[in-house]
Amino acid sequence: MAVLEVKDLHVEVVDQEKKISKEILKGVNLTVKTGEIHAIMGPNGTGKSTLSETIMGNPRYHVTSGQILLNGENIVGMPVDERARKGLFLAMQYPAEVPGVTNTEFLRAAINARRPKDNPVPIREFLQELDKNMDLLDMKQSMTERYLNEGFSGGEKKRNEILQMLMIKPSFGILDEIDSGLDIDALRVVARGVNAMRGDNFGALMITHYQRLLDYIVPDVVHVMMGGKVVKDGGPDLAKKLEDEGYAGLRDELGLDI
Ligand code: ADP
Ligand code: MG
Ligand code: MG
Repeated sequence: MAVLEVKDLHVEVVDQEKKISKEILKGVNLTVKTGEIHAIMGPNGTGKSTLSETIMGNPRYHVTSGQILLNGENIVGMPVDERARKGLFLAMQYPAEVPGVTNTEFLRAAINARRPKDNPVPIREFLQELDKNMDLLDMKQSMTERYLNEGFSGGEKKRNEILQMLMIKPSFGILDEIDSGLDIDALRVVARGVNAMRGDNFGALMITHYQRLLDYIVPDVVHVMMGGKVVKDGGPDLAKKLEDEGYAGLRDELGLDI
């Protein structure tokens, strides 16, 4: 079993326009184990993407105090590629376009970067796996030879992030709004991909605005973030309650003025 722990995490970013740094995360605590799917909900601008980017190691986000532990090892300060080799994967809210690199090339490179240098993935095995996962996600074969995310629709980008996750098989997937901009059919397909990963060797931190996603991917734990902190933990019923009462209800219940 693998464990990802976030302990009293404080994070600042530098506001490019105002040239000042501001604290976004103000003491986040949570623990995810393989075998579990956790959902993080919370209003816009509360720091959900900041948390995802910081766990993955985006250098724009400065950890001022606290820890991120992967199997007990503090990974704060570790470069992104090393975190990836240790089993972390981030499906970004806004996946980047990479002209000149095809989807297939990217996937093989990403998989091989996580394997010993003298033992790259055998081509046949790679292609079989790719075929199987693209079938699962109802993706067209032509997607493999297109440049990574270039000209992909919103839905295609999200499917492609899930394809990467299925191929790379991380221990932990951080999924930042994989449901945004998806129609109901695409949402089902993306959920099918995530559910296919479910099992003893995979854990997820799944960020969403909408309870709807959680009908398809039923989480074990739901966290609510507000004002740069996790303010409440619960089960799937917590997400339903939020859908009914909104964040205002929770603010009142907890006596928060954020
Ligand atoms: P969420 O994902 O919950 O909507 P974000 O983490 O994207 O929230 O943003 C939280 C706050 O941090 C917002 O006020 C946002 O403007 C700010 N922020 C996030 N990333 C950056 C950045 N790279 N530069 C400047 N401000 C940022
Ligand atoms: Mg947002
Ligand atoms: Mg966000």
